[in-house]
Amino acid sequence: SSVMAKSKFEYVRNFETDDTCLRNCYIVVRLDGRNFHKFAEMHNFAKPNDDRALGLMTRSARSVMEDLDDIVIAYGQSDEYSFVFKRSSNWFKRRARVILYPSNQNLRDYLSWRQADCHINNLYNTVFWSLVQRGGLSTVQAEDRLKGTLAADKNEILFSEFNINYNNEPLIHRKGTSLIWEKVDETTTKQVRVSNEDKEVAVTRSRKRVSAHHCDIIGDQFWTEHPDILES
Ligand code: ATP
Ligand code: ATP
Ligand code: MG
Ligand code: MG
Ligand code: MG
Ligand code: MG
Repeated sequence: SSVMAKSKFEYVRNFETDDTCLRNCYIVVRLDGRNFHKFAEMHNFAKPNDDRALGLMTRSARSVMEDLDDIVIAYGQSDEYSFVFKRSSNWFKRRARVILYPSNQNLRDYLSWRQADCHINNLYNTVFWSLVQRGGLSTVQAEDRLKGTLAADKNEILFSEFNINYNNEPLIHRKGTSLIWEKVDETTTKQVRVSNEDKEVAVTRSRKRVSAHHCDIIGDQFWTEHPDILES
């Protein structure tokens, strides 16, 4: 019978609860495109940054965030997005295969780590593709040229050979994208009937929507300006 089957097989649930994530920790899920290098080639992505692809990534992440109320911040760069679930989240019964960060500092360090990765990769890619697209080097030659160079050397190549000040490159490429919830007041008009008279009244309700930021998230400013992301 189904009752028998249930009692006989129910033990497998324990395998799931075994890996329940520690309570009261932020849960971070980072998705990185599989073999995106190839995907980018197949679809002729603009190099080093294809803005349509970045837009599509962020549009997708926005949908995820709007669908899952428990996500407090999402951070994207290149072919990856990190989703941070609030500490009290019970999504998927907190089942594991994720990374746990117990403190605000640990979580900020995680996001800082990803943004630092964004910076290092984008500086390299910007010089690399300048050498190829504007300097006439082959990809092998460009790779050789950049072997062993420091950040200062790369900035110098960009400036002296291509008249590019790296600090003026678009923020979205240098800093990636942080999606957070923003409160907005929405005013609509509503028909009401007061003592046999139709009246229009303005109704303001507070709604939240996802907003995108391309700023530094390593320093304190972003976190001071958005105190609601992390629990105090
Ligand atoms: P893996 O399977 O390990 O994830 P991968 O090919 O996805 O391998 P990554 O290190 O994740 O390699 O890097 C993603 C690659 O995708 C980049 O090196 C770049 O070539 C390409 N890419 C991703 N997003 C963009 C973009 N917006 N514009 C241009 N190229 C991009
Ligand atoms: P790329 O940016 O070139 O795609 P990547 O994302 O594959 O590189 P890195 O950014 O160099 O890799 O470093 C992340 C690696 O570190 C991952 O491969 C992951 O397996 C490993 N790792 C170890 N500890 C952690 C952690 N706490 N959080 C996330 N990744 C971790
Ligand atoms: Mg990566
Ligand atoms: Mg990778
Ligand atoms: Mg990838
Ligand atoms: Mg990647």
